[in-house]
Amino acid sequence: MHQDNNIMNNNNHRFLADTGLEHAIDLLRQTPQALENLPDGLPQFGIGERQTLDLLAPHVLGRAARLDSPLAFAHMDPPTPWITWATTLWNARLNQNLLHPATSPFARDAEKKLLDWLTPFFAMQGGHMCSGSTLANLTALWAARDAHGIKKIVASSAAHISIGKAARLLGVAYEQITTNTAGQIDTAQIGDLSNACLVLTAGTTATGAIDSLALAGRAKYTHVDAAWGGPLRLSPTHAHLLKGIDNADSVAVSAHKWLFQPKDSALVMFRDLERANAAISFGGAYLASPNIGVQGSRGASAIPLLATLLAWGSEGIAECIDHSMAMAHTLAVELSRQKNIRLWAMPDTGVTLFRPLNMSSDNFFKHLPTGMFSSCVLDGQTWVRAVAANPLADIDNINAAVRAAVQ
Ligand SMILES: *Cc1c(COP(=O)(O)O)cnc(C)c1O
Repeated sequence: MHQDNNIMNNNNHRFLADTGLEHAIDLLRQTPQALENLPDGLPQFGIGERQTLDLLAPHVLGRAARLDSPLAFAHMDPPTPWITWATTLWNARLNQNLLHPATSPFARDAEKKLLDWLTPFFAMQGGHMCSGSTLANLTALWAARDAHGIKKIVASSAAHISIGKAARLLGVAYEQITTNTAGQIDTAQIGDLSNACLVLTAGTTATGAIDSLALAGRAKYTHVDAAWGGPLRLSPTHAHLLKGIDNADSVAVSAHKWLFQPKDSALVMFRDLERANAAISFGGAYLASPNIGVQGSRGASAIPLLATLLAWGSEGIAECIDHSMAMAHTLAVELSRQKNIRLWAMPDTGVTLFRPLNMSSDNFFKHLPTGMFSSCVLDGQTWVRAVAANPLADIDNINAAVRAAVQ
């Protein structure tokens, strides 16, 4: 009896937070540096929550790239607004499961509302959230195969690897079309699409190119992979870049890219929702409502996104994206003025590729702060890649660092 009480007490303080949460937030502000090794094996006895936070803080907080650093301009991973930290904490505490309506009455409504808000920007009817556009693409192509009977998937050689993965998983033939000099699908090379799912990319991962979306609707089924570029639709200034996306049958968008969400957050949207859902839903004895899509249990990633949209409005999202686009433009103009630099092209969606002409790209990186840019290989050459995902970047400092590095 005495022992049972102890276990109850332990469990109370394990599961119900006290002042430890404030301590966690303090550590987030300070980022302590003193690293202590973690135990080699799984410890039998715990050190307690507070000590765990102290032990882990220098590792978890200290040894991660700061995506909000004024010099971070490298990847499609944005810094996250603090409203998403707060709502993600709520999510972790409640651990709702979208699979079970009983555990997530509001979270399911929140996701529905979110899709009601966002789908009109893409002329879609509805959809659901998933962990990333890798799954969003797979889900859309699954619906293309089973609801629309497509026999092959056609995409450009610049399409994301998730399209190739999906083709292989679904056992559907995959035809890759060469790209033109702008990095878009070469329209002249596209053959018969009468039984095909055409995948167009709105913002390719390597160069940010947008395939000709005028092709949407020409195939038996068109899916637009707008993992990166999709949020441009929320910007009145840039929405026109994705003109034609309205004619797609489905669209994938990664919210953990240009919608500034913590991972894992993405949307798959369908023009004919009922037809798609009928093909990708499973009922089961323990399910109160059918499981739609690839994932089973999944969390309430709609809540941080809903909170961000409430806090900022579409205008706030557009401001961040427009500012990022403007910084990418400034960088590209600066690069085009440097005689020792070859600019690949002016950026379409905030992705800028260039390479130094007076040294190797690898050597050039050594002259720059780590994490300022990423790299990619295109036509056998290594290019420096800048991605405008960080609205807090200091573009004047970044330009100055590039100038100094190529001297
Ligand atoms: C990032 C990306 C993906 C994959 O999205 P994840 O969210 O990383 O799974 C798919 N397509 C394109 C064009 C991307 O840039």
